Amino acid sequence: MVSRVIPVDSFDLVIFGGTGDLARRKILPGLFRRFLSGQMQEGSRIIGAARSELDAAGYRKMIAEAVAEFGGEEAKNKKGLAAFLDHLDYVAIDAKGDGGWDKLAQLVRQDVIQAFYFSVAPSLFGELAQRLHANNIANAKSRIVVEKPFGRDLETARALNETLAEHFTERQIYRIDHYLGKETVQNLMAVRFGNVLFEPLWNNHYVDHIQITVAETVSVEGRGAYYDKSGAMRDMVQNHLMQLLCLIAMEPPSQFGADAVRDEKLKVIRALQDIDHHHIVRGQYDAGPDGPSYRDDAENPRSFTESFIAMRCHIANWRWAGVPFYLRTGKRMKARSSEITVVFKDLGHTIFEGDEARHRNILSIRLQPNEGMDLQVTIKEPGPGGMRLIDVPLDMTFAEALGDEEHEVTDAYERLIMDVIRGNQTLFMRGDEVEAAWAWTDPLIEGWEARNDVPKLYDPGSAGPEDAMMLMHRDGRRWRDIKG
Ligand code: NAD
Repeated sequence: MVSRVIPVDSFDLVIFGGTGDLARRKILPGLFRRFLSGQMQEGSRIIGAARSELDAAGYRKMIAEAVAEFGGEEAKNKKGLAAFLDHLDYVAIDAKGDGGWDKLAQLVRQDVIQAFYFSVAPSLFGELAQRLHANNIANAKSRIVVEKPFGRDLETARALNETLAEHFTERQIYRIDHYLGKETVQNLMAVRFGNVLFEPLWNNHYVDHIQITVAETVSVEGRGAYYDKSGAMRDMVQNHLMQLLCLIAMEPPSQFGADAVRDEKLKVIRALQDIDHHHIVRGQYDAGPDGPSYRDDAENPRSFTESFIAMRCHIANWRWAGVPFYLRTGKRMKARSSEITVVFKDLGHTIFEGDEARHRNILSIRLQPNEGMDLQVTIKEPGPGGMRLIDVPLDMTFAEALGDEEHEVTDAYERLIMDVIRGNQTLFMRGDEVEAAWAWTDPLIEGWEARNDVPKLYDPGSAGPEDAMMLMHRDGRRWRDIKG
């Protein structure tokens, strides 16, 4: 199936931190693919802005290498790559000083769409925003893109929002969460709100419970010291898992517009109940045959930070009263897999004699690997021999199976960057959403810190600590198997 590509208007995209890891691994390879697809018009330019003393030729060489390494199959298109590189420029700049700003002011045009990607540490956001205005570069229509982490608690997130608000309106700010750029996440909304089949069942009359799992096989090696200050709750739950929870649980927005969708997501976050600490399980991976323990990776033998978390939460509204939402995420788990599962209730009564099995419809929405959905339905086992029932998956795999992680993430980035250029904020987090998410997570974190809660050890390559299994078993339910 050939998808229709609509070119976006000409733009100048300035990437602060354009020589950094994120820019080289994800942002630029993603832009290259959009260029190849014909979405980027001839007049558009990408300007790297970072501390390294490079000229445009040096920057193009750096990006050519990055695209070759991280750009997948498309990077073999040498002619395409050379044409893409022609759109690149570079300014050596100091976010904290005056160096480079004159040159940037000369380069950035005022008559095309301007976007400034802040791919730098959040501590630099304020200075960048201020200097963009002091040097008359940004205007009332410019857009800025900011990366996670957006604060580490409510107080810091609020301070960041206030800093940005001094220079840009909320309409200009794009807080990126690449989970929202995934094909499946958008399809989740299409399936929910584009079909008559699902919405009538999407409530506590028919749904038994919902599970959200984001399992990673990687350790925190290489960024252990950084991760140790954050942990799974801050690094994954507060942003990615809560965003997924919002999309699955929100009321139908009146239209597919940025504020209509984000208003509904915000209501979900505000309706989340406090969680009793018995319904939270935190874990740390132990040492295994192929790697050190979390504490060794974090270089902190007394670390109480979690590399795994599982929890049961409830949304206090009419739709979801009494329906548990089980969330879990962790490092060094048995497979890399992200999945949302909606488990529907049992049939009240079976009409089929001798059928004691419990048949349940299960809708599973896979974010990775192999983005897609399947719906487990009950049918008659084919062949003679009476009415025996079996459960089979009705496969709704819609995205091409891209297979490798870099590709999937790049894919999400490129989609979101094009949304920035189009001025579509639907898949970006609004300031009040981020604050509400921290307002919910802060007391939970403070709770376990006050209790000096020690995370439970789990074997690398497992599904997390035993207590996480018990969290569900106690309720007469079980987690879905984590399959890569
Ligand atoms: P990095 O350390 O690899 O790169 C930092 C970039 O910022 C470099 O280009 C550097 O030149 C530039 N820089 C630093 N100080 C500067 C200054 N004073 N003036 C101008 N430029 C300056 O970092 P990264 O991994 O690319 O991450 C960038 C941001 O994205 C961070 O906020 C990070 O938390 C976030 N992020 C990164 C990833 C990832 O996969 N790398 C994922 C999610 C979020």
